[in-house]
Amino acid sequence: MKDITKKDIRNNLPLTAKKRASHQTIVRIGDIEVGGHEFVIMAGPCAVESYEQTLEIACEIKKIGAQILRGGAYKPLTFPYRNQKTFELRQKGLDILKRVKNKVGIPVVTEVMDVRDVSNVSKAADILQVGSRNMQNFPLLIEIAKTKKPVLLKRHFGSSLRDWLGAAEYLLYYGNPNVILCERGIVAPHTHHPNSRFIVDLQVIPAVKEYTHLPIVVDPSHSTFRRQYVPAVARAAVAAGADGLLMDVHPIPYKAAVDPLQALNYGQFRKLKNELVKIYYILHPKMKFNV
Ligand code: PEP
Ligand code: MN
Repeated sequence: MKDITKKDIRNNLPLTAKKRASHQTIVRIGDIEVGGHEFVIMAGPCAVESYEQTLEIACEIKKIGAQILRGGAYKPLTFPYRNQKTFELRQKGLDILKRVKNKVGIPVVTEVMDVRDVSNVSKAADILQVGSRNMQNFPLLIEIAKTKKPVLLKRHFGSSLRDWLGAAEYLLYYGNPNVILCERGIVAPHTHHPNSRFIVDLQVIPAVKEYTHLPIVVDPSHSTFRRQYVPAVARAAVAAGADGLLMDVHPIPYKAAVDPLQALNYGQFRKLKNELVKIYYILHPKMKFNV
């Protein structure tokens, strides 16, 4: 892994690099501020499954204290097979997100995987999610940048901080300053077994704060892949200074169409949120944990 050098900061990362200690970008989604004086939780199903279920999830997570609804319409599924149990709703999923967003009044983050879908996904999304696998899909980043919409840029599981910031630099360079970084775990030779799927790089949180002015959130769901590990990693992310979390919440997690092992149910999410609030206020007594 190559370190970020002074020359990099000057020549390769002039827009992403922090100019002075107090330099901090706040990404605004309506009146929600990511990177400002509040902690932001984005929660919801891995994949959008139906209108009724998405509506219920949006209402429940909002009541519990999430500010943004997550849900994939287009999914980067590992295998090409779709069936009644494992599916992505694609355009139908986007339509559901639009309806739910308007009814509940909650902003939506959803993934765009294909450069041809950017304009359509933008109509449903308040935040465009770039998945881990697409972090260095530069034509996609350029097209997303043109929308000027807030972007959640997931870190590829094999990338250094330098590569990740290079991808962010593309978005900024092509005219989109509204970038939120998302740490979702990295791989090492001894990972990728049931008890250690991805290593959550907690140290990258202070490193991001040191090098850049961009906000950073952590995804404890796609990194751990197992719900029993999600609360510990979420608590650690708050303690390490993350600006927010992106996490899977589902009414009946083991029945989820995608990633059924990692979602929390409403009760588990509520308990975790109460713990996060306590940790947050110890560290940031003057800030706001939106509840
Ligand atoms: C997701 O958040 O739905 C997802 C697929 O995540 P990742 O790109 O981190 O695997
Ligand atoms: Mn998933």
